[in-house]
Amino acid sequence: MPVFGTMPGVCRLCGSPNGVKRTNGWHCCICDWRVGDVPDPELPRPLIHVVYYIRWADRVKIGTSANPHQRLATLWHDEILAFEPGGRDLEQARHTQFADLREGGEWFSADPRLLQHAAALSQGDDPWHAYARWVSTALKRANSLDL
Ligand SMILES: [Zn+2]
Repeated sequence: MPVFGTMPGVCRLCGSPNGVKRTNGWHCCICDWRVGDVPDPELPRPLIHVVYYIRWADRVKIGTSANPHQRLATLWHDEILAFEPGGRDLEQARHTQFADLREGGEWFSADPRLLQHAAALSQGDDPWHAYARWVSTALKRANSLDL
């Protein structure tokens, strides 16, 4: 029977204190990284390119980054609406998709159509949790750990 609870230490990937204990040890309940697993420092950190949707007042910026923690720390925003796995091509496709809402640069009017699109992507989940899972999955794959 899996046991839910506070892990012996916070998740080294996403910092969550909570996990689930299975027969092979504690796993983070946010990103599923296993406590004690250490990414091989010889391997490059997997780059997860995301398209981000951030809202500031009544505008939404659609941009892309392979380092959203660093990038979003430099951008004014009230709220992160969603992340979507993808890079420049997807970003351009979204800019085209919502071209009629464009207010300038990468900023778009926070129209219900755009907000619904972002809500469908996040599905009520914290965007950072989704991002942590993508990083965790990529790291496990790169390190040939159990998925
Ligand atoms: Zn985690």
